[in-house]
Amino acid sequence: MRLARLQGMDTLISPPRAGRFEAALQKIFTRSARVQDIEPIGEGFRLLTLDGDALRNLDWTPGDKIQVMLGGWVQRTYTPISWDAEAGSTRILVYLHGDTPGTQWVRALRLGDSCAFFGPRKSIRLAPAASPVILFGDETSLGLGAALSAQATTYMLFESAKRADTEAVMHRLRLPNASVESDPHALQAAMAALLQAHPDADIVLTGKAGAIQQMSRLLHQHGTAAKRRQSKAYWAPGKTGLD
Ligand SMILES: Cc1cc2nc3c(=O)[nH]c(=O)nc-3n(C[C@H](O)[C@H](O)[C@H](O)COP(=O)(O)OP(=O)(O)OC[C@H]3O[C@@H](n4cnc5c(N)ncnc54)[C@H](O)[C@@H]3O)c2cc1C
Repeated sequence: MRLARLQGMDTLISPPRAGRFEAALQKIFTRSARVQDIEPIGEGFRLLTLDGDALRNLDWTPGDKIQVMLGGWVQRTYTPISWDAEAGSTRILVYLHGDTPGTQWVRALRLGDSCAFFGPRKSIRLAPAASPVILFGDETSLGLGAALSAQATTYMLFESAKRADTEAVMHRLRLPNASVESDPHALQAAMAALLQAHPDADIVLTGKAGAIQQMSRLLHQHGTAAKRRQSKAYWAPGKTGLD
């Protein structure tokens, strides 16, 4: 059913291919995985399960990133939602925001395809005893929310113009304590309320660079200590493969 739906939607797009030299280097420096499952969540998201021996017996910490090789020396960064180091499998949620390399790659994927990536590598790291945590982000941060909430009590606030689509992901990933807003004023008010309700929380800001800047100003006004905040821009208008 899933595959049939994907095949129906995506047959016109061809993926970039890794040339011989690139493929040889990938073999040495990257982990190789197999696409074990592709689950569309609405039109805008794909939940991918990757598995393979190279995913076994390694250290992964919630918030780590992987950098997927899309072919043609192009790589894009995603956040594992979970990692089963015994079974050798991980899941990532990809947001299909436009006709871009990342979107084309995921639309062209088929079950059983192979995929190469670097990592997992450190990106966002919570302090070992951090709790609670307030996470601000957007569609690209939903996977991070799922990962962090497995480690600490996490209150999540997502900015999204397509609220229903984002809510569908929140529901599918069973994200606790998560809300979504599209209006900038409502976002600021929701963040102010979270800061007031959880004055000891560690703060994580991710997603669009400009939105992070705005939220940083709000945190500054609230006197949130710099050592309790961390931020990572996941994308910025006009920039590609920001990492
Ligand atoms: C550490 C880290 C972890 C990340 N984790 C995830 C993840 O788990 N899931 C996920 O989906 N993304 C994640 N991202 C974001 C993702 O890597 C970027 O959105 C990336 O740009 C996607 O590649 P692309 O080929 O689709 O677009 P690109 O070719 O990189 O970008 C083309 C243009 O599209 C626009 N653009 C890029 N991203 C977006 C967006 N989200 N919304 C609207 N416009 C956009 C920009 O104007 C950009 O110039 C992460 C990024 C980082 C740095």
